[in-house]
Amino acid sequence: MQVFGLLGNPVGHSLSPPMHEAAYEALGLDARYVTFEPDRDAAADAVAAAETLGIAGLNVTIPFKRDVLDAVDLDDVARRVGAVNTIDFSEPTPRGYNTDVAGVERAFAHHDVLIDGRDAVVVGAGGAGRAAVFALADAGASVHIANRTVERAESLAADVPGATAGGLDTLDRVADADLLLNATSVGMEPDVDDTPVPAEHLHADLAVLDAVYSPIETRLLREAGEAGATTIDGAWMLLFQGVEAFEIWTGGDAPVDAMNEALRAELA
Ligand code: NAP
Repeated sequence: MQVFGLLGNPVGHSLSPPMHEAAYEALGLDARYVTFEPDRDAAADAVAAAETLGIAGLNVTIPFKRDVLDAVDLDDVARRVGAVNTIDFSEPTPRGYNTDVAGVERAFAHHDVLIDGRDAVVVGAGGAGRAAVFALADAGASVHIANRTVERAESLAADVPGATAGGLDTLDRVADADLLLNATSVGMEPDVDDTPVPAEHLHADLAVLDAVYSPIETRLLREAGEAGATTIDGAWMLLFQGVEAFEIWTGGDAPVDAMNEALRAELA
């Protein structure tokens, strides 16, 4: 039996176990996905222990995504983003990836939204914001980062050629943009009446991805839909980072529909 898992603290409410176990069931794989909650200063030890125990693959979540950087051989995207959310143990040295980046790209692609050559605004410059900005820039978009703390947006933009940065007062750029990605926690339960972007900036030529997946339909997505925009909820991003991890670990295509169904059943 192959064992995969999630390294985080806390991991109690993670949606990854049901999503990955649904994939194993759909494909008849003899595999299990379990959660591990090491002490906050024990991420590197946990990676070494997983390797010793023959664990096949790990996802990594808060607060360990940066802590494991030195414990793995980094793939190019993970090195540039500066965070790892997936480790593959099938090679002599554990290899670290960042599938949040692919999750963003694949969520747009799944909705037939073109990124190349488009103008994008990313709101937020934390972990999700970093992944979003690299995903959109790598796929050919011109990216503007708007963040409450301007210095954080500027620091992220400095890592991404061509990206620009500003405070939340630059959100009026959404009015001329093709793509909008909310990578802040604004609008998340229990503050579901909040929105990161005033409705007056939303329009019908926009595609909006909200990284927030609780609730599934945020106020931002509701108002974007009312403005005629294409809307993509945060479960798609979560789904495709998991799909990408599954495909790295197994070398085969993930059963996307089964994983999506399991994820949405958990979020319902
Ligand atoms: P993080 O690193 O803590 O960053 C939080 C971001 O939100 C920062 O840019 C912060 O701005 C901004 N922010 C927080 N409160 C704000 C407010 N009241 N007004 C304006 N901006 C505010 O968190 P994260 O890991 O990036 O996660 C952000 C969101 O994305 C969470 O809701 C998380 O659940 C979601 N997420 C989803 C996925 C997915 O797969 N769908 C993956 C990762 C994260 P400052 O820099 O000014 O503090």
